[in-house]
Amino acid sequence: MIARPGPREDHAVTAASTPTPDAPTCRWCGGTDGTVVLDLGEQPPSDHFPPADDPGPDPVHPLRMWLCGACGLAQLAEDPTTPEEPRGAEPDALVAQARDAVARVEAAGLLPRGGTVSEFGSPHGGSWLGLLGATGLTEASAADGPADVVVDCFGLMHAADQRRGLEERTAATAPGGVLLLQFHTLAAIVADGAWNALRHGHFAYYATPVLARMLDELGFEVTHGFLFDLYGGTVLLAARRRGVAGPRDPASVQALLERETALGVTDPAVLAGLEDAARRSAEDLRAHLVASRDAGRHVLGYAAASRAVPLLNRAGVGVDLLPAVADGAPAKQGRRMPGVGIPIVAPDAVVARRPDEVVLFVTDMLAEMRRRMPEVEAGGSSWVIVDPAVRVVTPAG
Ligand SMILES: [Zn+2]
Repeated sequence: MIARPGPREDHAVTAASTPTPDAPTCRWCGGTDGTVVLDLGEQPPSDHFPPADDPGPDPVHPLRMWLCGACGLAQLAEDPTTPEEPRGAEPDALVAQARDAVARVEAAGLLPRGGTVSEFGSPHGGSWLGLLGATGLTEASAADGPADVVVDCFGLMHAADQRRGLEERTAATAPGGVLLLQFHTLAAIVADGAWNALRHGHFAYYATPVLARMLDELGFEVTHGFLFDLYGGTVLLAARRRGVAGPRDPASVQALLERETALGVTDPAVLAGLEDAARRSAEDLRAHLVASRDAGRHVLGYAAASRAVPLLNRAGVGVDLLPAVADGAPAKQGRRMPGVGIPIVAPDAVVARRPDEVVLFVTDMLAEMRRRMPEVEAGGSSWVIVDPAVRVVTPAG
């Protein structure tokens, strides 16, 4: 048989070779004792969607979470060279949370009127500078030196060298200034079984007690802790150099530390629950799609989201089980899911192809999709959500 280019179901497992991963060295403390708590195997970069006629094999890299036994920082075990993450559209939930966070930080007296602010950016969030400017802060230029307020929203995790990353942020903070660090707490990732938070390019996964200790090592004291619902648990810490006068709310910090410590966020056995969650998700999805195929049901996917990539690859789902994934982004249409040969099509295919089921890879979009595509349920089809467990959404549900 002559090989032909085009999407094929056997892309999934075409790693040319499996390099033996080196023993990890902690990105914070340099320690080498630790535990792999989540191993997703060889995974393609989740934001690289090859053209549909690119026969592959796609580049793949090991994707493992390693917990340092010395300092407790959960981190990427490997450092594959991955392209810069594209800056995504800013979801409404993120905009609302930023407004809430700035209001709470201002109410805590942490934003000096007439002071300066500088921001460490991230591919995920929009900038907080507009909101902070409205409170009376002005953006510091490079010539101004360290700023009175330094803000980092989901940025620090992108630093491969965590010590250098945090040192850059503390150095950018004026002697009497405040450093604001926001992150998706590992406590929430573990509690929700959110294994697909593990991502190439996201080098560290912070629990509050661990990040507080890291700051302490650099002479910074956490003065306030704020908790938000975003992503099931987003934490914002405010920190200042030890001994510097200013507002403090030790009870807010203590509450977060106790809550996360009680969850066992630095216990390898607790974190290994993510491995079970990953295995269950993959097995459930595969079993569901096999049953649908055997029953002759026509299935389509929706949203060529980054989080669908490790799930489809881990579950070994190819075009035989999922013939296409629809997505509203024109840049993704005509391409395919990395690692698996599933083509990405325009959303009108969902209505035109009249599938029996639409598997939705972004559960948060369910209400919006039911509104935008009433034809799906009106025509007798069902939405199926997969995150965290596979569930067929009934019209009443
Ligand atoms: Zn360490």
